Amino acid sequence: MKIFKDPKELIKFRQSIKKSVGFVPTMGALHNGHLSLIKRSILENDYTIVSIFVNPTQFLEGEDFDKYPKKIEADLKICSLAGVDFVFLPDIDDMYQDHELSIKAPKIEGFILEGYKRAGHFDGVLQIVLKLLNITKPTNAYFGKKDAQQLYMIIKMKEQLFLDTNIIACEIVREADGLALSSRNVYLSKEDRQKALNLSKSLKLATKLIMDGERDSKVIKSHMRKILKDCHVEYVEIVDREFKKLEKVEISNTIILVAVKVNETRLIDNIWI
Ligand code: AMP
Repeated sequence: MKIFKDPKELIKFRQSIKKSVGFVPTMGALHNGHLSLIKRSILENDYTIVSIFVNPTQFLEGEDFDKYPKKIEADLKICSLAGVDFVFLPDIDDMYQDHELSIKAPKIEGFILEGYKRAGHFDGVLQIVLKLLNITKPTNAYFGKKDAQQLYMIIKMKEQLFLDTNIIACEIVREADGLALSSRNVYLSKEDRQKALNLSKSLKLATKLIMDGERDSKVIKSHMRKILKDCHVEYVEIVDREFKKLEKVEISNTIILVAVKVNETRLIDNIWI
Protein backbone atom coordinates (compact mmCIF):
# COMPACT_ATOMS: atom_id res chain seq x y z
CA MET A 1 0.00 0.00 0.00
CA LYS A 2 1.43 3.35 -1.04
CA ILE A 3 0.74 6.53 0.90
CA PHE A 4 0.57 9.90 -0.83
CA LYS A 5 0.68 13.18 1.07
CA ASP A 6 1.32 15.62 -1.75
CA PRO A 7 -1.74 16.16 -4.02
CA LYS A 8 0.51 17.01 -6.98
CA GLU A 9 2.39 13.75 -6.61
CA LEU A 10 -0.84 11.77 -6.57
CA ILE A 11 -2.19 13.67 -9.60
CA LYS A 12 0.97 12.78 -11.50
CA PHE A 13 0.91 9.15 -10.38
CA ARG A 14 -2.78 8.85 -11.26
CA GLN A 15 -1.98 9.66 -14.89
CA SER A 16 0.03 6.44 -15.11
CA ILE A 17 -2.92 4.26 -14.04
CA LYS A 18 -4.88 3.13 -17.07
CA LYS A 19 -7.26 0.74 -15.28
CA SER A 20 -10.39 1.49 -13.23
CA VAL A 21 -9.99 3.38 -9.97
CA GLY A 22 -12.40 3.33 -7.02
CA PHE A 23 -12.22 6.15 -4.50
CA VAL A 24 -13.47 6.29 -0.90
CA PRO A 25 -13.21 9.70 0.77
CA THR A 26 -13.20 9.59 4.58
CA MET A 27 -12.32 11.69 7.58
CA GLY A 28 -10.61 8.72 9.22
CA ALA A 29 -11.33 6.99 12.54
CA LEU A 30 -12.39 4.17 10.26
CA HIS A 31 -15.14 1.75 11.26
CA ASN A 32 -17.08 -1.00 9.54
CA GLY A 33 -19.23 1.56 7.72
CA HIS A 34 -16.16 2.94 5.99
CA LEU A 35 -14.88 -0.59 5.50
CA SER A 36 -18.03 -1.60 3.62
CA LEU A 37 -17.40 1.22 1.12
CA ILE A 38 -13.74 0.22 0.83
CA LYS A 39 -14.57 -3.46 0.28
CA ARG A 40 -17.10 -2.59 -2.39
CA SER A 41 -14.58 -0.38 -4.16
CA ILE A 42 -11.96 -3.12 -4.08
CA LEU A 43 -14.49 -5.57 -5.51
CA GLU A 44 -15.61 -3.28 -8.33
CA ASN A 45 -12.34 -1.62 -9.40
CA ASP A 46 -8.78 -2.53 -10.36
CA TYR A 47 -7.34 -0.06 -7.86
CA THR A 48 -8.74 1.60 -4.73
CA ILE A 49 -7.72 4.95 -3.27
CA VAL A 50 -8.87 5.92 0.25
CA SER A 51 -8.44 9.49 1.42
CA ILE A 52 -8.20 10.39 5.08
CA PHE A 53 -8.64 14.09 5.66
CA VAL A 54 -10.54 15.94 8.37
CA ASN A 55 -11.81 18.77 6.24
CA PRO A 56 -11.88 22.07 8.17
CA THR A 57 -14.25 23.89 5.83
CA GLN A 58 -17.20 21.61 6.55
CA PHE A 59 -17.08 22.24 10.30
CA LEU A 60 -18.89 25.24 11.74
CA GLU A 61 -17.63 27.49 14.54
CA GLY A 62 -17.94 25.63 17.82
CA GLU A 63 -18.18 22.18 16.22
CA ASP A 64 -15.80 19.32 16.96
CA PHE A 65 -13.09 19.95 14.32
CA ASP A 66 -10.29 20.16 16.94
CA LYS A 67 -11.36 17.08 18.82
CA TYR A 68 -12.53 14.99 15.86
CA PRO A 69 -11.21 11.44 16.58
CA LYS A 70 -7.85 10.71 14.94
CA LYS A 71 -6.58 7.15 14.68
CA ILE A 72 -4.19 7.30 11.79
CA GLU A 73 -2.08 4.24 12.69
CA ALA A 74 -5.17 2.04 13.08
CA ASP A 75 -6.70 3.52 9.91
CA LEU A 76 -3.63 2.66 7.85
CA LYS A 77 -3.62 -0.86 9.26
CA ILE A 78 -7.31 -1.30 8.36
CA CYS A 79 -6.69 -0.03 4.82
CA SER A 80 -3.68 -2.23 4.33
CA LEU A 81 -5.44 -5.37 5.66
CA ALA A 82 -8.49 -4.62 3.49
CA GLY A 83 -6.29 -4.48 0.39
CA VAL A 84 -6.39 -0.76 -0.36
CA ASP A 85 -3.79 0.20 -2.98
CA PHE A 86 -3.30 3.88 -2.20
CA VAL A 87 -4.04 6.13 0.75
CA PHE A 88 -4.16 9.88 0.30
CA LEU A 89 -3.25 11.70 3.49
CA PRO A 90 -2.87 15.38 2.68
CA ASP A 91 -2.05 18.30 5.00
CA ILE A 92 -4.53 21.17 5.21
CA ASP A 93 -1.99 23.60 3.70
CA ASP A 94 -1.64 21.42 0.60
CA MET A 95 -5.42 21.33 0.08
CA TYR A 96 -6.33 24.98 0.72
CA GLN A 97 -4.91 28.37 -0.18
CA ASP A 98 -5.49 31.67 1.64
CA HIS A 99 -8.17 32.95 -0.68
CA GLU A 100 -10.33 30.18 -1.97
CA LEU A 101 -13.04 30.52 -4.58
CA SER A 102 -16.28 29.19 -3.21
CA ILE A 103 -18.74 26.48 -4.13
CA LYS A 104 -22.30 26.93 -2.98
CA ALA A 105 -24.70 24.14 -2.15
CA PRO A 106 -27.93 24.39 -4.16
CA LYS A 107 -30.66 26.67 -2.83
CA ILE A 108 -33.42 24.97 -0.84
CA GLU A 109 -32.03 21.39 -0.86
CA GLY A 110 -28.70 22.70 0.46
CA PHE A 111 -30.27 24.86 3.13
CA ILE A 112 -32.84 22.58 4.75
CA LEU A 113 -32.26 19.92 7.42
CA GLU A 114 -28.47 19.51 7.76
CA GLY A 115 -27.96 22.61 5.63
CA TYR A 116 -30.19 24.61 7.98
CA LYS A 117 -28.78 23.27 11.23
CA ARG A 118 -25.20 23.49 9.91
CA ALA A 119 -25.27 26.53 7.62
CA GLY A 120 -22.34 26.41 5.21
CA HIS A 121 -21.57 22.76 5.98
CA PHE A 122 -22.43 21.50 2.50
CA ASP A 123 -20.42 24.25 0.80
CA GLY A 124 -17.37 22.86 2.60
CA VAL A 125 -18.30 19.27 1.77
CA LEU A 126 -18.73 20.00 -1.94
CA GLN A 127 -15.52 22.03 -2.06
CA ILE A 128 -13.41 19.20 -0.62
CA VAL A 129 -15.16 16.43 -2.55
CA LEU A 130 -14.60 18.29 -5.82
CA LYS A 131 -10.92 18.79 -4.99
CA LEU A 132 -10.54 15.12 -4.06
CA LEU A 133 -12.31 13.94 -7.22
CA ASN A 134 -10.06 16.17 -9.33
CA ILE A 135 -6.95 14.78 -7.65
CA THR A 136 -7.93 11.10 -7.78
CA LYS A 137 -9.99 11.13 -11.02
CA PRO A 138 -11.86 7.98 -9.97
CA THR A 139 -13.97 5.80 -12.21
CA ASN A 140 -16.28 5.19 -9.23
CA ALA A 141 -16.55 7.10 -5.95
CA TYR A 142 -18.29 5.53 -2.95
CA PHE A 143 -20.48 7.39 -0.45
CA GLY A 144 -22.68 6.17 2.41
CA LYS A 145 -26.45 6.63 2.53
CA LYS A 146 -25.84 7.42 6.22
CA ASP A 147 -25.17 10.99 5.04
CA ALA A 148 -28.19 11.00 2.75
CA GLN A 149 -28.35 14.72 2.08
CA GLN A 150 -24.61 14.88 1.45
CA LEU A 151 -24.96 12.02 -1.04
CA TYR A 152 -27.77 13.91 -2.78
CA MET A 153 -25.62 17.09 -3.03
CA ILE A 154 -22.72 15.13 -4.48
CA ILE A 155 -24.96 13.50 -7.09
CA LYS A 156 -26.23 17.01 -7.99
CA MET A 157 -22.67 18.31 -8.21
CA LYS A 158 -21.75 15.45 -10.54
CA GLU A 159 -24.73 16.26 -12.78
CA GLN A 160 -24.39 20.05 -12.74
CA LEU A 161 -20.59 20.22 -13.09
CA PHE A 162 -20.52 17.32 -15.58
CA LEU A 163 -18.11 15.28 -13.48
CA ASP A 164 -16.83 12.11 -15.08
CA THR A 165 -17.12 9.83 -12.03
CA ASN A 166 -19.88 7.38 -11.11
CA ILE A 167 -21.27 8.19 -7.68
CA ILE A 168 -22.06 4.93 -5.90
CA ALA A 169 -24.49 4.98 -2.95
CA CYS A 170 -23.74 2.41 -0.24
CA GLU A 171 -26.05 1.00 2.43
CA ILE A 172 -25.86 2.09 6.07
CA VAL A 173 -23.88 -0.26 8.31
CA ARG A 174 -25.25 -0.68 11.84
CA GLU A 175 -24.24 -2.32 15.11
CA ALA A 176 -26.20 -5.47 15.99
CA ASP A 177 -28.52 -3.37 18.17
CA GLY A 178 -29.31 -0.95 15.34
CA LEU A 179 -27.01 2.00 16.11
CA ALA A 180 -25.64 3.36 12.83
CA LEU A 181 -21.84 3.30 12.87
CA SER A 182 -20.26 6.72 13.10
CA SER A 183 -16.80 8.01 14.01
CA ARG A 184 -18.59 10.23 16.53
CA ASN A 185 -20.02 7.25 18.45
CA VAL A 186 -16.77 7.21 20.48
CA TYR A 187 -18.01 10.38 22.20
CA LEU A 188 -20.99 8.49 23.67
CA SER A 189 -20.98 7.33 27.29
CA LYS A 190 -22.79 4.09 28.14
CA GLU A 191 -25.92 6.05 29.03
CA ASP A 192 -25.68 8.25 25.94
CA ARG A 193 -25.37 5.18 23.77
CA GLN A 194 -28.59 3.82 25.21
CA LYS A 195 -30.33 7.09 24.26
CA ALA A 196 -28.67 7.03 20.84
CA LEU A 197 -30.39 3.72 20.12
CA ASN A 198 -33.64 5.65 19.95
CA LEU A 199 -32.69 6.98 16.51
CA SER A 200 -32.77 3.58 14.85
CA LYS A 201 -35.71 2.53 17.04
CA SER A 202 -37.72 5.51 15.78
CA LEU A 203 -36.86 4.62 12.18
CA LYS A 204 -37.83 1.00 12.77
CA LEU A 205 -41.16 2.11 14.21
CA ALA A 206 -41.74 4.37 11.18
CA THR A 207 -41.05 1.42 8.89
CA LYS A 208 -43.49 -0.76 10.84
CA LEU A 209 -46.19 1.90 10.67
CA ILE A 210 -45.70 2.18 6.93
CA MET A 211 -45.76 -1.59 6.51
CA ASP A 212 -49.06 -1.59 8.44
CA GLY A 213 -50.50 0.88 5.93
CA GLU A 214 -49.87 4.30 7.54
CA ARG A 215 -48.84 6.92 4.96
CA ASP A 216 -49.45 10.24 6.75
CA SER A 217 -46.08 11.89 7.45
CA LYS A 218 -47.45 13.90 10.38
CA VAL A 219 -48.71 10.78 12.15
CA ILE A 220 -45.47 8.90 11.54
CA LYS A 221 -43.30 11.82 12.71
CA SER A 222 -45.31 12.27 15.90
CA HIS A 223 -44.87 8.56 16.79
CA MET A 224 -41.14 8.89 16.10
CA ARG A 225 -40.82 11.97 18.33
CA LYS A 226 -42.33 10.03 21.24
CA ILE A 227 -39.52 7.47 20.98
CA LEU A 228 -36.97 10.30 20.74
CA LYS A 229 -38.25 12.11 23.85
CA ASP A 230 -34.98 11.59 25.79
CA CYS A 231 -32.88 13.16 23.03
CA HIS A 232 -32.67 16.78 21.94
CA VAL A 233 -34.36 16.44 18.55
CA GLU A 234 -33.04 18.74 15.80
CA TYR A 235 -35.34 17.40 13.13
CA VAL A 236 -37.49 14.45 12.15
CA GLU A 237 -38.40 14.74 8.49
CA ILE A 238 -39.92 12.74 5.68
CA VAL A 239 -38.78 13.71 2.18
CA ASP A 240 -38.72 12.26 -1.28
CA ARG A 241 -35.47 11.24 -2.97
CA GLU A 242 -35.08 14.85 -4.22
CA PHE A 243 -35.38 16.13 -0.65
CA LYS A 244 -38.84 17.65 -1.11
CA LYS A 245 -41.02 17.34 1.99
CA LEU A 246 -43.68 14.67 1.67
CA GLU A 247 -47.10 14.85 3.28
CA LYS A 248 -47.72 11.24 2.36
CA VAL A 249 -45.08 8.54 2.21
CA GLU A 250 -44.42 7.26 -1.30
CA ILE A 251 -43.10 3.73 -1.36
CA SER A 252 -39.72 3.55 -3.17
CA ASN A 253 -39.38 7.34 -3.16
CA THR A 254 -39.06 8.27 0.51
CA ILE A 255 -36.27 9.01 2.96
CA ILE A 256 -37.05 9.38 6.65
CA LEU A 257 -34.37 11.36 8.46
CA VAL A 258 -33.58 12.14 12.08
CA ALA A 259 -30.96 14.35 13.71
CA VAL A 260 -30.58 14.60 17.47
CA LYS A 261 -28.12 15.68 20.08
CA VAL A 262 -27.36 13.27 22.90
CA ASN A 263 -25.56 15.50 25.37
CA GLU A 264 -23.01 17.25 23.16
CA THR A 265 -22.89 14.55 20.48
CA ARG A 266 -24.79 15.20 17.30
CA LEU A 267 -26.10 12.06 15.59
CA ILE A 268 -27.95 11.51 12.33
CA ASP A 269 -29.66 8.48 10.88
CA ASN A 270 -32.15 7.70 8.14
CA ILE A 271 -33.98 4.98 6.32
CA TRP A 272 -34.90 4.72 2.64
CA ILE A 273 -38.43 3.49 2.09
P1 AMP B 1 -16.87 10.28 7.21
O1 AMP B 1 -15.51 9.73 7.54
O2 AMP B 1 -17.80 10.32 8.38
O3 AMP B 1 -16.81 11.57 6.43
O4 AMP B 1 -17.55 9.24 6.23
C1 AMP B 1 -16.93 8.83 5.04
C2 AMP B 1 -17.92 8.05 4.22
O5 AMP B 1 -18.37 6.92 4.94
C3 AMP B 1 -19.19 8.88 3.87
O6 AMP B 1 -19.56 8.61 2.54
C4 AMP B 1 -20.20 8.34 4.85
O7 AMP B 1 -21.53 8.45 4.41
C5 AMP B 1 -19.78 6.89 4.95
N1 AMP B 1 -20.28 6.29 6.19
C6 AMP B 1 -20.14 6.78 7.44
N2 AMP B 1 -20.79 5.99 8.33
C7 AMP B 1 -21.37 5.00 7.62
C8 AMP B 1 -22.18 3.86 7.95
N3 AMP B 1 -22.54 3.60 9.20
N4 AMP B 1 -22.59 3.07 6.94
C9 AMP B 1 -22.24 3.33 5.65
N5 AMP B 1 -21.47 4.36 5.28
C10 AMP B 1 -21.04 5.19 6.24
